[in-house]
Amino acid sequence: ATPMSITVGVGRGARSGILIRDAEALERMEAVDTLLIDKTGTLTEGRPSVTAIAAQPGLGEDEILRLAAAVERASEHPLADAMVRAAAERGTSLPSVADFTAVSGKGVAGLVEGRRVAVGNALYFADQGIEAAPLAEAAEAIRMTGATAVLVALDGQPAGVIGIADPIRPSARAALDALRADGIAIVMVTGDNRTTAEAVARQLGIDVIEAEVLPEDKAAVVQRYRSRKRVVAMAGDGINDAPALAAADIGIAMGTGTDVAIASSGITLASGDLARLPEARALSRATMRNIR
Ligand code: ADP
Ligand code: MG
Repeated sequence: ATPMSITVGVGRGARSGILIRDAEALERMEAVDTLLIDKTGTLTEGRPSVTAIAAQPGLGEDEILRLAAAVERASEHPLADAMVRAAAERGTSLPSVADFTAVSGKGVAGLVEGRRVAVGNALYFADQGIEAAPLAEAAEAIRMTGATAVLVALDGQPAGVIGIADPIRPSARAALDALRADGIAIVMVTGDNRTTAEAVARQLGIDVIEAEVLPEDKAAVVQRYRSRKRVVAMAGDGINDAPALAAADIGIAMGTGTDVAIASSGITLASGDLARLPEARALSRATMRNIR
């Protein structure tokens, strides 16, 4: 039978936006000593927008965005959405794309007006045999601000860089400070570039970062920390976070995130408000004290 105090705890959580799946989830939160936390959509709002465009000599910024957005229209990634919206805001009409391909955690490509357009990160360029060096300086300047640098190539030649920034959630800093004061080690886990990750982490006081983690490797990062005898909570929002959420001692999903992330988690923060994280911890502690 479920002890009365668990039922009370789950009810109290629900009223303050902390949705707890079962007794185990509530019990384990107290024992957590390490929080692994996704960047995009979890520490940040998940509403990225285009903030910079750099074009190689002879090419226009609007043209870079137009061609990239034409390909990205076929992608469901939040970065893709930002490029398509930016093109619309500039009143640019987008040509159609053929032969669209997407590589998870790397980028997309397709044929636009007879030209091959590739859009993605440095890993993607390396895989495709496209030289990224001429774009490196512009890309690094964008990353230093905490934005993501999306590289664009035309017919296999580096053509430009699009900077996309996602605002940090207003409640993130205070929530992490409270967890740290409570003895929890915080680790950022992200598929994004290391320079971008570091710039965001600095604003949040996070000094341990697992960057450039491919979607299929996020769960292995969780396992690595668990194998060091850590009690690991993983917080995330995306489809690509689901295996890591399931692999953790306790998965914490953002209510603003994908259904699979929520289904893979023991706790869901209803409004995606990170202030609920230390509250979930306090609730777990109070509940366990009542049981003992
Ligand atoms: P995160 O872990 O930050 O949620 P992902 O694993 O989804 O990120 O993607 C990692 C990186 O792959 C992105 O930061 C971006 O550089 C690149 N990427 C993924 N999808 C796309 C896309 N549709 N267009 C451009 N770049 C992409
Ligand atoms: Mg995410």
